[in-house]
Amino acid sequence: MTDATRIRDRIDTGPRFSEADAVRLNRLFRGADTTEMLETMLKERMAGDVAIVSSFGAESAVLLHLVSQVDPTVPVLFLETGKHFPETLAYRDQLVDRLGLKDLRNLTPDAEELAKKDESGLRWSYDPDGCCEIRKVKPLAKALLGFDASITGRKAFQASTRSSLPRFEIDTTDEQGRLKINPLIDWSPERIAAYIAEHDLPPHPLVAEGYPSIGCSPCTSKVAPGEDPRSGRWKGWDKTECGIHVPGQDDGPSSELPPGFDPVF
Ligand code: SF4
Repeated sequence: MTDATRIRDRIDTGPRFSEADAVRLNRLFRGADTTEMLETMLKERMAGDVAIVSSFGAESAVLLHLVSQVDPTVPVLFLETGKHFPETLAYRDQLVDRLGLKDLRNLTPDAEELAKKDESGLRWSYDPDGCCEIRKVKPLAKALLGFDASITGRKAFQASTRSSLPRFEIDTTDEQGRLKINPLIDWSPERIAAYIAEHDLPPHPLVAEGYPSIGCSPCTSKVAPGEDPRSGRWKGWDKTECGIHVPGQDDGPSSELPPGFDPVF
């Protein structure tokens, strides 16, 4: 029996993933092509029920295209915070249509909590962590309860907080033992650009206007050439990530893990 079979069989019988499983998966797919890895994971249901978490941001088309080629029915979770640029919402609809994605799920904040804690809609201006908690962290946590694994579009080059992330890690936002898969973690900006060109994927309309990393409109600023692409997020705040990702691990034994990573999105 292979590692892959053992992991898949255990998901089928109930429990989710352990840190040892993430370590094994990192070793199993070390050197494997991204598409090959996704095909194996999705077609053989090695990760059980899987969803993609997408911001429909600057480079989201790459991951969505890769997954759509393997299985367009994989649910796509989008955090509809109510604060997005209209361009992002239009881009989301354009990509869903173009890629033939069959199961877009817009995750909205709890209406009662929103009315109670952000009646003015301006919480982002004085408590961005609290705003992200209401509009992103909680809706995603609730939606992910129904899944064994999530696929993210994070890349190591995006920020120093992501430079050591592995391909597979355990989602530590709760105690469900959910797997987090980062298929693009080792992709370079050049490879992303080449993939976009090869498949003629449409760009997010705001990239050409100077936004290399795009989130909610009140918390996204233009970035000067040469700056960290994510430096335009929450400008002026000591905040670089929204909190839907928390400390992870690399693919070595747990006793050799590096210190926890900053929360990332
Ligand atoms: S990114 Fe800004 S507007 Fe969006 S949820 Fe976080 S604080 Fe609120």
